[in-house]
Amino acid sequence: MKLPIYMDNHATTPVDPRVLEVMLPYFLGDFGNASSKSHAFGWRAEEAVEAARAQVAALIGASARELVWTSGATESNNLAIKGAAQFHKLKGRHLVTVATEHKAVLDSMQALTRDGWSVTVLPVGRDGRLDPALLQAALRPDTVLVSVMHANNETGVIQPIEAIGAITRAGGVLFHCDAVQSIGKIPFDVEKAQVDLASLTAHKLYGPKGVGALYVRRKPRVRLIGQMDGGGHERGLRSGTLNVPGIVGFGMACQLAGQEREAEAARVLQLRERLRRGLEAGVELLTVNGSMEHRLAGNLNVSFAYVEGEAMMMAIKDVAVSSGSACTSASLEPSYVLRAMGVSDDLAHSSIRFGLGRFTTAEEVDFVIGLVIAKVKKLREMSPLYEMARDGVDLSRVEWANPH
Ligand SMILES: *Cc1c(COP(=O)(O)O)cnc(C)c1O
Repeated sequence: MKLPIYMDNHATTPVDPRVLEVMLPYFLGDFGNASSKSHAFGWRAEEAVEAARAQVAALIGASARELVWTSGATESNNLAIKGAAQFHKLKGRHLVTVATEHKAVLDSMQALTRDGWSVTVLPVGRDGRLDPALLQAALRPDTVLVSVMHANNETGVIQPIEAIGAITRAGGVLFHCDAVQSIGKIPFDVEKAQVDLASLTAHKLYGPKGVGALYVRRKPRVRLIGQMDGGGHERGLRSGTLNVPGIVGFGMACQLAGQEREAEAARVLQLRERLRRGLEAGVELLTVNGSMEHRLAGNLNVSFAYVEGEAMMMAIKDVAVSSGSACTSASLEPSYVLRAMGVSDDLAHSSIRFGLGRFTTAEEVDFVIGLVIAKVKKLREMSPLYEMARDGVDLSRVEWANPH
């Protein structure tokens, strides 16, 4: 087994060697610009781009003409939200989203408030899920768009997007879905969920970084204002020379995900459960953050009470994971996603996100279980709070301790 071990597959994934293989010719002999209409170099590039468009569309139940290539999901989220808002601003200036969305969604909406838009940010339950009744109640005559992600990047919690799509369709409101974490992991179908706009990116499903797509429904047609001025590529919605090798890789990544999704999810779930059971057997006061029922197979987000996540990450340097603390200008802020679920600041700071994936092995999981158990024990031995808890001091009465 090679160290370090990668268990941060929600942040990014390695490129699958089968994906890299189909990309290589488009750096070399077939390097043409896909919008060169006058020679074979351009034609071959365009052909490859269109084949990839069909591969990506097939994974999400769309038609190829409904996809716009972008540089990734940050751009797709910006284009969907700002583009739809700007086109429909005469209908009204109200948007709805959820507190646990990705920053690219929340900040795109925040930016629109400077142009007079108002935004309703809905809460989630302790399990991380949105209650569709809250969404129903939030819709107004001037609501233009609702944005709810499919699966969360910190907790793997899956939102009830089919119920949400039914509500938005009935209300005549656009439904944008950030489907970055779900595509290739669980079924995501734009028809079943009645999604109007969906953000995708290649690097979370074993494709290359810097390439993504926005699904834009054609029936009924969804209208957007492009955010990038220039040559009018992608039917005017996104100017810029296409990243042909990246797009070819994205297409292959989607094809492989479609073929292997079910078997892979079953295998990854077994490994995740092995990790969860192993940690639970060796560590007391461990809590899983978010729904276990509605959750991606590869995600385990856990809090180790009385252990700082940052200290934990330093202690397990041989294992790449993320913590529930975000570094801001001066201090460590607890994850806003965990906070929105009602997780205390202490437990949010004690959380670690394990992201298992296609290349995770049972041997790696067993190594991580042993290492984490040993390090939690060691770090707790250094914690006066933990000592007090063990000695029976009622820490729920100590303001700065976590209440669990
Ligand atoms: C990674 C991620 C993004 C951003 O995608 P990029 O392609 O890296 O810009 C957006 N949303 C979610 C849920 C993500 O996990």
